[in-house]
Amino acid sequence: MMIAAKKISIMWFKKDLRLYDNEALSSAAANGFTVGLFSLDNLRWNTSDLSTRHKVLLLKGLYELAKRLTGYRVPIYLARGNFIDTLTRLKQEFEEFTLYSHQETGNYSSYLLDNKVRKWCKSNHILWEEKRQNNVIRGLKQRDVWSRKWKEFMGKECLKIPVFQSNVCNPQMKNNQFLSPEVHDFEWNGLLKFCGVDHLALDSASKSLPNNLNETMKRLLTSFFQERSVNYRTEMSSPLKAEYSCSRLSPFLTSGMLSIRALHKELLSASEELKSKEFNATKFSSLRSFEKRLHWRCHFIQKLEFEPQLEFRCMHVNYEHVRNQNKLNAQEEEFLNLWKEGKTGFPLIDACMNYLKTTGWINFRMRAMLVSFASNNLWLHWTHSGEHLARLFLDYEPGIHWPQIQMQSGTTGINTIRIYNPEKQFIDQDPDQIFTRKWNPNGWPHSEFDKIVDLKKSSQGAREKLWAMRKSKKFVDLAKKVYLDHGSRKRKNFKQKSQLVSNSQLELLDKQ
Ligand SMILES: Cc1cc2nc3c(=O)[nH]c(=O)nc-3n(C[C@H](O)[C@H](O)[C@H](O)COP(=O)(O)OP(=O)(O)OC[C@H]3O[C@@H](n4cnc5c(N)ncnc54)[C@H](O)[C@@H]3O)c2cc1C
Repeated sequence: MMIAAKKISIMWFKKDLRLYDNEALSSAAANGFTVGLFSLDNLRWNTSDLSTRHKVLLLKGLYELAKRLTGYRVPIYLARGNFIDTLTRLKQEFEEFTLYSHQETGNYSSYLLDNKVRKWCKSNHILWEEKRQNNVIRGLKQRDVWSRKWKEFMGKECLKIPVFQSNVCNPQMKNNQFLSPEVHDFEWNGLLKFCGVDHLALDSASKSLPNNLNETMKRLLTSFFQERSVNYRTEMSSPLKAEYSCSRLSPFLTSGMLSIRALHKELLSASEELKSKEFNATKFSSLRSFEKRLHWRCHFIQKLEFEPQLEFRCMHVNYEHVRNQNKLNAQEEEFLNLWKEGKTGFPLIDACMNYLKTTGWINFRMRAMLVSFASNNLWLHWTHSGEHLARLFLDYEPGIHWPQIQMQSGTTGINTIRIYNPEKQFIDQDPDQIFTRKWNPNGWPHSEFDKIVDLKKSSQGAREKLWAMRKSKKFVDLAKKVYLDHGSRKRKNFKQKSQLVSNSQLELLDKQ
């Protein structure tokens, strides 16, 4: 074997599809000849929360990366089937290698796969180096140190594109049976097919993904910091204006085409530039708001990192059986389908669902409203609505998604119970009805669908049921634990807070 005697670095690409500021790739490059792998194991690639649009986004990112890496003679292969079998074959091929990747806080399946890989590496004496790519800290014991860690992490310089040792590909690696051909050798539709994606059946959000994602990302970064961010703070809640004024960078963060540290540096330089020019207070406060949200990104993912079961278990255990998590009854089934199809009879809800299906994105407030409606007015268990939305959000990030879904469903025990009123939101956020008209093409001016619930009664019913859970002493004790595990330490510390805590004040603990 030509390279078996040399040091081999296997770079397992997950959601870190970039060259710049990629610590795992830099370490792989520094320590051996680098071979890239992308796993299509069922536990990563065929889970119920992953939809075609996510696959197309990841494959586009991977394809661009693979093409860039050919310039450095670094191959990327797809590993179809059981990933442990692939690792075993690689061990036979190379005898020794080091596995590099980033720590990932993904969905529960990815957590299970990581555990299997960890076990395999241990019993096969293979070193697995996992690097951190954000301020989500594995094994964090003390939530209080989180902010200090943020400063340390963001304060470091971004890593340059690595210098690769001149790779000589082992001929036996090519066209063998356990790995694919090199990713850059595929033509696009062939790549989709190999990965089980039918290119003739792509949905609109997949089809509208541009061909050159890295270029698109750069354009978004420039336009956001130069122009679009000015009214970010005041326009982020309107479904119509947010499309322009929000950064729209979430799919790039989720797929790892953009590192959060690189984005944070862009933000700092935009803020500095602003100070040196004629000062614009509106833009300044918008940039501050944006920075807060980058904190929130890691703060939320940290919750799932700490408790991977949050994907299917209520954060506060008292809420575990308040809604039906088992097989849906006929009424629930009907409600869920009408909500999914945008046929609830509430114009803004239906418009948001239609818009989201088509574009793969919607702003924060409308996401929260969609969840609140399903969880509170339709009284559906959040796992059902959450999975549907996960499949629609192009930026699906389990660590943000599931804790947010729980927050909007009132099951965290430490947040305000907030039930959105879609009729009020309609008046406040779309006063000229432009968005709602556009995305209810057949149902305007009066929805063609009857309202499926009485808004007032269903909101009142939900509020009573959720508050009833908060009345026991046991609830408060458990909520304190939830706060210690997951709550933000931004405001007062818990000692001060816990002196204030009563049932009604619990809602203040982790206010965003
Ligand atoms: C029910 C629900 C589910 C959500 N699921 C996801 C998800 O799967 N993936 C996801 O990236 N965001 C999710 N969000 C948060 C938020 O809606 C999106 O991050 C935002 O709309 C993405 O658009 P943007 O990049 O233009 O955001 P911007 O407003 O430009 O914000 C920049 C970045 O900050 C982070 N961010 C913004 N708002 C939040 C927030 N409230 N909490 C945590 N991080 C935030 C995101 O990384 C975002 O890309 C969810 C919100 C709700 C209410």
